[in-house]
Amino acid sequence: MFKKVLIANRGEIAVRIIRACRELGIHTVAVYSTADRNALHAQIADEAVCIGPAPSKDSYLNVRALISACEITGAEAIHPGFGFLSENPEFARMCEKCGIVFIGPRATSIEMLGDKAQAKESMKEAGVPVIMGSDGAIANVHAAHTLARDLGFPVLIKASAGGGGRGIRAVHNDDELEPMMKAAKQEALACFGNDQIYMEKFIENPKHIEIQILADNYGDVIWLGERDCSMQRRNQKVLEEAPSPASFMTDELRRKMGEAACRAARVCGYRNAGTIEFLVDKNGDFYFMEMNTRIQVEHPITEAVTGIDLVKQQLLIASGEHLSIKQEDVKLSGHSIECRINAENPLLDFRPSPGEIRSLFIPGGPGIRVDTAVYQGYEIPPQYDSMIAKLIVHGKDRAEAIAKMTWALSEFIVDGVATNVDFQLKLIRCQEFLDGNYDNGFLNRVDLLKDERSKS
Ligand code: ADP
Ligand code: ADP
Ligand code: MG
Repeated sequence: MFKKVLIANRGEIAVRIIRACRELGIHTVAVYSTADRNALHAQIADEAVCIGPAPSKDSYLNVRALISACEITGAEAIHPGFGFLSENPEFARMCEKCGIVFIGPRATSIEMLGDKAQAKESMKEAGVPVIMGSDGAIANVHAAHTLARDLGFPVLIKASAGGGGRGIRAVHNDDELEPMMKAAKQEALACFGNDQIYMEKFIENPKHIEIQILADNYGDVIWLGERDCSMQRRNQKVLEEAPSPASFMTDELRRKMGEAACRAARVCGYRNAGTIEFLVDKNGDFYFMEMNTRIQVEHPITEAVTGIDLVKQQLLIASGEHLSIKQEDVKLSGHSIECRINAENPLLDFRPSPGEIRSLFIPGGPGIRVDTAVYQGYEIPPQYDSMIAKLIVHGKDRAEAIAKMTWALSEFIVDGVATNVDFQLKLIRCQEFLDGNYDNGFLNRVDLLKDERSKS
């Protein structure tokens, strides 16, 4: 096992990784920007290195500074967390070149799967069903018109390098196609430095169901159940649950998806933890959408229902251990829900709300887990993501998980900044959620804040 690991990230995920290292007796090196001098991850790690000024491109995305920090501190491996450089093949390759273990898949796998249009082609060849659309990237507007008419409107234009729900545009008719392609390209270039786009048939009201996998360096692959991430706003996840409500998911569908996910991982010689995202339509037909080659935000709900610590598994796999868990050892137990707690104002179109947390109360009790890096008096910097905590509950069944989430959200207090805590509370209290009857379009169709808006 490694003696020292550098965590190339910030916020709750950096803290989460530091804790996993602790349990394995690994020394940790945190890195921080000048805006994060008082950040929790920089305080609880064994060592902390400043890697640059506040803007991400000068710090958390600064490959040279990160590699130097490894060399100075003698860290043998880097855990990239999620976001930032976690899915950047050049960074993984640079680590490999410098003799630093990148805790994740090989650079070639990240590269192949990071081009989402290309990844779909590889999956097709492996016999994994994919969403109908362009073969690879779209060459030009003319080809796009022809393809869109063949597929039938509506279609989606998506960024090949996309992530975090950005660079996606729906197109309903021929007239919209060119302007939407332009808009998607612009956003893709701004967000990902790559303006390549592809087209997919727009699937009406699907469910987003993803499968967690673990693969070791010797070809063993297992799947760890599904996560239902259909509760989305603007293609971004808001709340996740595992398993998917029983009104929708069957053991047979789960097994089919799990096996398809393992097949997908095997074709690309995948290593370490990964997630295969699928869309599932009303008929229960599922389609590969993308593979995320990193630990995911919502990984704790899988940990809750499987009892497996995914970050520790990442560390063990990267250090060269064989998977000690066999597929038949994976047993799903109870029900888990995660609410993403963001510093944002739902009434101002969910605009980020950075600033000082004047008072804070974090709920606890049986079956409650809060992953966070904030504390009373902490100043949320405006430069980074607005997610400040993840509230995760685990109950014996879905009803118990919902009951726990309801009181945990009611107890959660964050003063000084606006948050989406009350929004989440409304969400888990609404009838459709209670019935497990929702799909990816739910939050676009239903305005949970109607009453609030009319008051203000
Ligand atoms: P998950 O799939 O783990 O639920 P999200 O899609 O919510 O993750 O993304 C996790 C975090 O990583 C978010 O903060 C998001 O902004 C960021 N992110 C995801 N993909 C990319 C990417 N390709 N480039 C930059 N940031 C990304
Ligand atoms: P990202 O890389 O930004 O996570 P994804 O390809 O995973 O992008 O898509 C994000 C979300 O957008 C999905 O969870 C889903 O809600 C929606 N989406 C993506 N592709 C389609 C599609 N073809 N039809 C309908 N919805 C889609
Ligand atoms: Mg996705």
